Amino acid sequence: MAYQYDTQNIFAKILRGEIPNKTVIETEHTLAFEDIAPQAPVHVLVIPKGPYQTWDHFAAEASEAEIVDYTRTIQAVVNQFDLAPGDDREGYRLIVNAGEAGIQEVPHLHTHILSGRVLGRMLRD
Ligand code: AMP
Repeated sequence: MAYQYDTQNIFAKILRGEIPNKTVIETEHTLAFEDIAPQAPVHVLVIPKGPYQTWDHFAAEASEAEIVDYTRTIQAVVNQFDLAPGDDREGYRLIVNAGEAGIQEVPHLHTHILSGRVLGRMLRD
């Protein structure tokens, strides 16, 4: 499978420092930043720094170091906002959209971390 990547997508521009972002966590391979149009009190996007369009692209071609760093950065955001379910913590939802059926607007892999309110059912139909 030949994966595509559009270097002009908005998250590529954020990674190049061409447009600003509100950084939550930055590591060697990963950037977590606030979504510009939050749909919950906590709405953080986590992106790999490498040029991967989708989850399947990343899973197929990223190095183990990138994959571990990405996964652990998501966990670090969950820790930073104290979201892990238990006692008086409320839990969270991760969403990764891919392609047309997934309604992915920005063609650079991103995981949405949503929390801070009851998020409703995942899908209606
Ligand atoms: P998706 O529909 O899964 O591709 O989600 C794209 C997300 O990127 C949306 O939640 C947008 O609000 C968010 N977004 C778009 N542009 C920016 C930006 N410049 N900074 C932060 N978030 C953005």
